[in-house]
Amino acid sequence: MIVAEQKSLDEIKAMLKDAKKVLAVGCGTCVTVCFAGGRNEVGVLSSSLRMAREVDGDSLTVDEVTVQRQCETEYIDGLADDVESYDAVLSLGCGVGVQSLAERFPAMRIFPALNTKFMGYPSEHGVWEERCQGCGNCILHLTGGICPVSRCSKQLFNGPCGGSQAGICEVDPDTSCAWQLIWERLGEQGLIEQLMEVEPPKDWSTSRDGGHRRIVRDDLRLPDGEEG
Ligand code: SF4
Ligand code: SF4
Repeated sequence: MIVAEQKSLDEIKAMLKDAKKVLAVGCGTCVTVCFAGGRNEVGVLSSSLRMAREVDGDSLTVDEVTVQRQCETEYIDGLADDVESYDAVLSLGCGVGVQSLAERFPAMRIFPALNTKFMGYPSEHGVWEERCQGCGNCILHLTGGICPVSRCSKQLFNGPCGGSQAGICEVDPDTSCAWQLIWERLGEQGLIEQLMEVEPPKDWSTSRDGGHRRIVRDDLRLPDGEEG
């Protein structure tokens, strides 16, 4: 999932300082699962913003709505009838959701309530860890299903850096050394020999380093003029 966390109330309050009427829009998918921008978080944040404005001797109207997915036009089209009656939209979606709203409603100011962090998974209750950086050329079949791009602090591809101590990354004492994990996993699978293969340098042009990325599927595209 895409993992995000809420900005501080002070920061959100400052962004909305000129607004009198705001629509807070939650998203029912990734950010609901990571407790950052679902219906509950929309409710709590909206109340906090109203109260904060009252404490300042003013008032702020915050209406609340949560759509199933902010990152797809069909789910945000339903906001079109009302959106113009607001001074601003506060998105509790990830960065993609915020930009989808901005693209769909270009005249409206859209403010991000969240900081989008990474693609990850919950390793325990209340803890999310990065697992993928979307490098565009997955090598998990070579590394025992453990991603050195997102989990090795130095993004090494040819084994540990030498600073690993007792299985812990030298960069962060709360992080396991990815290469220790890879070694152990492949050892358990009887596949250590796989690590002895010399791989060509990774092609980073498929990653963010190659510029803005897009996927075009001609088999799914509609003829010019047709809408899905
Ligand atoms: S190798 Fe690339 S695509 Fe695969 S998990 Fe790691 S970052 Fe993601
Ligand atoms: S200790 Fe392990 S995970 Fe940390 S930077 Fe070195 S090789 Fe990567």
